Amino acid sequence: MTKECRGPNEKVSLRSPRAALQFVIRHRSLVRHSLIRPSSFVFLLLFSPALQGADNVSVLGSEPHWNVLERYEETITHDEFTRLVKDVYCTHGLAPDLVEISDKTARILMNRDAQKFFILRFADNDDARKTVPRRWRPAKLLSSTKPQKPLSGLKIALDPGHLGGRWAKMEERWFQVGSSPPVQEGDLALRVARLLAPRLSKLGAKVSFVRNSNEPITAKRPDDFLETATKILISHGVPQPRADVLDPNDPEKEQTIRWQSKILFYRYSEIRRRAALVNFKLHPDLVLCLHFNAEGWGDPNNPTLTDLNHFHLLVNGSYLPEELEFDDERFEMVRRLLSRAYDEELPLADTIALAMARETGLPPYQYPTTNSTTKVGKSGYVYARNLLATRLYRCPVVYCEPYVMNSKDAFARIQAGDYDGARAVNGVERKSIFREYADSVVDGLIEYYSKAPE
Ligand SMILES: [Zn+2]
Repeated sequence: MTKECRGPNEKVSLRSPRAALQFVIRHRSLVRHSLIRPSSFVFLLLFSPALQGADNVSVLGSEPHWNVLERYEETITHDEFTRLVKDVYCTHGLAPDLVEISDKTARILMNRDAQKFFILRFADNDDARKTVPRRWRPAKLLSSTKPQKPLSGLKIALDPGHLGGRWAKMEERWFQVGSSPPVQEGDLALRVARLLAPRLSKLGAKVSFVRNSNEPITAKRPDDFLETATKILISHGVPQPRADVLDPNDPEKEQTIRWQSKILFYRYSEIRRRAALVNFKLHPDLVLCLHFNAEGWGDPNNPTLTDLNHFHLLVNGSYLPEELEFDDERFEMVRRLLSRAYDEELPLADTIALAMARETGLPPYQYPTTNSTTKVGKSGYVYARNLLATRLYRCPVVYCEPYVMNSKDAFARIQAGDYDGARAVNGVERKSIFREYADSVVDGLIEYYSKAPE
């Protein structure tokens, strides 16, 4: 599921009550359709005056190094920059002083209190563009000469979402029907990654794992965040936060230090550590984030199974105006835009989506609102959304969300486990759900890298 990006504890800096109200309206619709239940706390923190702290950065973020953008001077034209801002990254608009585009330059706000700006010079025309600095290589620089090795030289990092194992309950990526084996998203995603890896290697790719066990990448644990969790709660209008949750159905559990410290651990700290691994060690040309989707299942010990089943893929974009108020998120958005990761990840996501549609026969997921996402590309299955992983990994990222784990069909197939060939599940002969997932990703990659765009 795609709730990594924000939680009720996301620090939000809002400049006007009107903006705050719009944000609440957006988040209301977001939380209603997720497993993270809305709470009065979400609304409380948004109006807290303590939100405008000294460091205007998102949760566990740090002050950006704006001088990095100097390397992108004259690498993009005015028209291309404007197109990416309007169609991909700032589709919900942005405050006029955050990014001001003129003929020759873009003026990007670095710090509002100090009124400091970064001035990015555009290239005069396409021919005058300087080379875009980046570690990853686009498909056109990788064209393989061997037909049996279409992924030759491609460095792919596989990122199975979440943790699974003993952490699955804490992550709220766990449900169990009666006495059947529990469904844990982190475990399912890892299984798909392990099926994918040898197949991709055989096709010539150099495969690495961002996670290859049920243990976190981060060395931190919830106990390391007790102080930060307390500070967040106090600064968000809970003067004397409770230490622990008394009852799992406690509607105010979000206001406890324990609950906040867990989210800081498994979401923010973990994904930020994965990003460090991707950006400073693995240096892949592409990251595939592997997830399974879900519809709200209610009580995890007595979950609702649904007839709904669908899939979609995500690429980075569609930042909310409120997110762009954070100095680090705005910086990361601009850096990502300038890296042109989108030009690679969008056609790739579209190609994988069509392969997945053929294999699974599933319809595209339709987000109930367009408040946090923007449909992009041609396949009808791809959305832009600002998730922590798609924002922080500095290379093209395709984030896969096939299957509703608690659909009757997917649940039966998950219970059937992994197997060779086809078997009747719910009266239909099918591949194992894990192989179907892996096969469709492989098919999409072969297709994309065999005929890389000019
Ligand atoms: Zn997920």
